[in-house]
Amino acid sequence: MIIAIDGPTGAGKSTVGKALAKRLDYLYIDTGAMYRALALKVKESGIGLEDEVALFQLVSSIRLSFSAIGDEMHLFSNGEDVTHAIRSPEISRLASDISKSRVVREALVRMQRDFGKAGGVVLDGRDIGTVVFPDADVKFYLDADPEERGRRRFQEFSEKGLQVDLSETLKEVVERDRSDMSRSISPLKRAEDAILIDSTCLPVEEVVERMLRIVAEKRRWGEADRR
Ligand code: C5P
Repeated sequence: MIIAIDGPTGAGKSTVGKALAKRLDYLYIDTGAMYRALALKVKESGIGLEDEVALFQLVSSIRLSFSAIGDEMHLFSNGEDVTHAIRSPEISRLASDISKSRVVREALVRMQRDFGKAGGVVLDGRDIGTVVFPDADVKFYLDADPEERGRRRFQEFSEKGLQVDLSETLKEVVERDRSDMSRSISPLKRAEDAILIDSTCLPVEEVVERMLRIVAEKRRWGEADRR
């Protein structure tokens, strides 16, 4: 099966995506991390965001791969482990900015389809159920109140020892969602056939259990169809 989880920043997509993949013994692909890895390369190379030719060259030369180290999925960019380097507020903003570019999206969507085409995969992002895998077997749209999402992001940064301000983090979360939802190419939106789950008041385990029940049901339908 291909399972898509889309939704705004801080809704809990990666936490539940990882847990769901683990319970199903599936591969977990964090597509946001791919935009972040490219953003890190853009920052290091100093190219301007309006320079589509340079962006094209950069995205054509980047080799991304996921590999499990212990319990954690690590992302390698041209052989370098960038798992931790991509988790800063600056890279979050830059990732959202470069995600508006057609050349960037085309290249990363191609890679994501390649990673997921064999199935047995959970992908999380903004356009998985609408663009990357519109025929995904199960689609979820995970949402939560903006305040709660800002608080979660703040906690995540604080746990990593990053000095951030709660109200600044909240503002950034709202601004990044606005930008992701209003861009002209593949904006963040709920696919018509995506199941909405609001995680504001739900513990992670409960969200995962709900998803597992839906996946199991979908599997039963699939088996009944084949008989
Ligand atoms: O999910 P995460 O916060 O790591 O994503 C970083 C940024 O990458 C998002 O704000 C969004 O602009 C972009 N993104 C995207 N499409 C995806 C995944 C992420 O445009 N499938």
